[in-house]
Order: sequence, then structure tokens, then C-alpha cells
Amino acid sequence: MNSAGSVRKRGGSFFAGAGATGTGKRGNSRRPSKRGLALRYLAVAALFIFSLGIFFITSRDAVSSKKEEPLILADAVDSPGAAASVSAESGLQAPSPSPSLSTVEFKVKGNDSFYTILDGLDVPPEQIVRMARIAGGVYNLGKVKVGDRLSVTRLGNEIERIEYRFSDIEGMRLERDSDASGGYSAELFEIPYVIEQRLVHGVIDSSLYEAGRRAGASPGIIMELSDIFAWDVDFSTDIRKGDTFSVLYEIATVDGRAIDAGKVLAAEVVNNGKKHAAIFFNESGGGSGYYNLQGKSLRRTLLRSPLRYRRISSYFSKRRYHPIKKRYRPHHGIDYAAPTGTPIETSGDGRVTFAGWKRGYGNYIVVKHNSIYTTAYGHLSRIKKGIRKGRKVKQGQVIGYVGSTGLSTGPHLHYEVKQRGRHVNPLALKSAPRRSLNKAELQTFSALRRDLMALLSRSDTLLAMNEKGKRKKGI
Ligand SMILES: [Zn+2]
Repeated sequence: MNSAGSVRKRGGSFFAGAGATGTGKRGNSRRPSKRGLALRYLAVAALFIFSLGIFFITSRDAVSSKKEEPLILADAVDSPGAAASVSAESGLQAPSPSPSLSTVEFKVKGNDSFYTILDGLDVPPEQIVRMARIAGGVYNLGKVKVGDRLSVTRLGNEIERIEYRFSDIEGMRLERDSDASGGYSAELFEIPYVIEQRLVHGVIDSSLYEAGRRAGASPGIIMELSDIFAWDVDFSTDIRKGDTFSVLYEIATVDGRAIDAGKVLAAEVVNNGKKHAAIFFNESGGGSGYYNLQGKSLRRTLLRSPLRYRRISSYFSKRRYHPIKKRYRPHHGIDYAAPTGTPIETSGDGRVTFAGWKRGYGNYIVVKHNSIYTTAYGHLSRIKKGIRKGRKVKQGQVIGYVGSTGLSTGPHLHYEVKQRGRHVNPLALKSAPRRSLNKAELQTFSALRRDLMALLSRSDTLLAMNEKGKRKKGI
């Protein structure tokens, strides 16, 4: 955002200001604000009056008269693009026909450089080099990236302004100085973004992903939705045709284009007739997470250990000497030494995906807990009756008994945890109990719950837009 100071800096003719509001694409689309409208009115009105030939500014007094002041202010705050400063000099200077202001926008392509783009506009080479050098004080134009946007605004043949957006939220502006020196000044600027609250509803036909996309949700939001409900609904196996979902999320946009993945504020999934709700809540301790309507965290953890009584005999490591194979190989799990027959409990709710003999693992069970976690149990003396592929199991349920089947030197449980398909150290997993909100938090939570659940049941899709100047981390 420019300060009032930029008005003084920019000279330009009266027409420049008027023209800029008509052709300055960025200025218009970027700030759909009242101030923008005010500027536009000013410009149109001024141009009209000027063309009638009855508006001549002959002294500084005319400029600083009370009537003009708010209009100039509006320009100062709102129009970084338009050289719309009204001055006595420019008023008298503007002859007709006047050169017109035009803006050309470029999306940087494969072989483009700052030089080739300006060269294509017939800008003299020495001027391109000079401008690149000035810009170099704040940004190196030698590294324009494919896909970035560059806009060039000219008044007649003279370059008034060049803007280069090198990220979704930042850009560099090179602008002609207001004095007659022909010099340019460069500065970095922030691109205002808008936080939108959006709401999508969907009915699942075949998959959550498909239904989500059809409803207009981004892939990122769909992934987040399945992660939020990971411990309650397995979207790859539990989904029934006709299941529904509603997601309220916020997303940062620039010119209507999303610049981040978005964040779910509240969601509801009806799976096989059962309703699951999630509300994003900022905890009093500074953390945050998703809670159900009762104020219980949706984030659950695996049991610290699948055995009640155990002694760890071998830790997770990338390199371990294997006593039977007599060579070094990674150990992707933990070995718990325990007497044969010690009951093994599944460390989380889930579904059995394997139960049977598997080479070195001997009697082996794999439980898939959600789209993220699976656990595996090896060397069992025996798999509990009824535990077979496809069976649903509850956290703490006994699924088998410690043994020494497969490649094993003595009775122990080999326990593995996979996170998104990769082995992780079970002991490194956080095993905090499922959190419930405390009394003070519940008060805030219940108000939030009321508001969000009301929003969630609405049918409109765009709920709110807030213009923000700065982007908060983590949105
Ligand atoms: Zn092992």
C-alpha cells in the first residue's frame, strides 16, 4: 500500500491518471474497494470536465482546496498503479491529442527474459539494461521465472511502470520518476490477498475425491477432510453410496485464484447413516486441532505398546546385525521379549488386512487403522480365533499370542508401524491420550460450534470475503 508520499513522487499528466483507471488492469481487478471506485469517479469526472475545457488549474491553491483534498487522498492510498497526481503543471501541460496509457501483460514463457520481453516492445537496449540495473537494487530481474506475470504500462512510447509478480503475494515495481530526469525507481510491494470462506456439499457416488471435486473442493481440501476423519471413517473402504459431506473452509485468493491449499474450519460427514462432525479449535495452550461436537479431539493415537507386560529386546534401527541371517539389515520394528502365549493387543481401531503365515515373520497380522497408519505383528505362536482378513478390530482387542515362529531366536513380538506406507519408529510416535477440551475451552468452543454448524448447514457456497494485506502463516 502506498503512502500519501507517493503522490508527491509521481508526476505524470492529468491524462495519465484518467487513462490509468481505464486501462490499468491490475489496479482495478486487484482492489475492488470503495476507494477504488472513488478514484474511478474522480478520474472519469476529471476527464469529462477537462474535455469540456472548463477545468484549468492555474495555481497550487486550486489543488489544495478543500474540495479536492479527499479525492487526492483516495488516489494516494489506493492507486499505486495510476500516476494520477493532479498538479498545476500537468494541468496546463496536457495538450490534445494526448498520448494514451496502455498496459500489456505477459506471462513469462520458456525462453523469455526481462530483456526479450521489453525488446519485443521496442524498448531501446540501453534503456532495458538501465532499468534492470535500477530494479536490481530490490530484485534481480535476471531470474524471471516461467509462469510469473510481468505487466508493462506505457504512456505513448514511454514506459511509465513495470510490475513483476515473482510470487503469489509479492512483486517488484519499477516506475518512472515524476521529475523530468527520465529516471526510474524500484520498490517491492505486497499483493493484497483475500480470505474467502467457502462451503461445499457433496453426495458420494463412488469416491470422496470424485465427489469432492464435483462439488468444487480442491484436492488439498479433500485430502485434509479424509485426514481429519481418518480415525473415524476410512474413505477408501467404509464409504457407502449416498454418504454425504459438507466442508466449510477458508482459502486465500488473489484475483480469484487460490494461492494456498486452504484450511478446513468445520466439516460433517454422514457415513453409512452415522454423522461425524469436526470443528477446528484453537486450544488454550497454543495448539490447535479438530474436535467433535462433544469437544473431544478427533486425533487419536496408537497404544504405546501392543503388550501389557514386555521387555524391549531390540530397537528400531536402520542397521542391525541379524542373528539368524548373520548379516546387517535394517530393523523396521521393535522386538518385545515376552513369554510365549502373552496376549497381543491391536494398538488402534482398524481393519485386519493380513492374518496368516508370512515367511520370516511366521504367524503375522497386519492391521490398517486409517489412511495413514498400519501396524504389523510378527512371530506369533497363534492368531486368535476369528481374526482374519477384513475383520474390524477395536483398540486393545487381543488378536494373537507371542511366539517364536518364522525367523526368530526366542519368543518375542516383532512390532512394526507404518505411516503413509513408510516404517516409523513406534516408540517415537506421540501417544498422548485423546484430548478433551477443558471447562474454559468448552465455553469458547460451544459458541464456535453453534456458529460453524449453522454456517455448515447453509446452501450458499461463498460465505465471506475479507481483504487482508498480509498473509498469516499457516493459512
Ligand atoms: Zn524384529
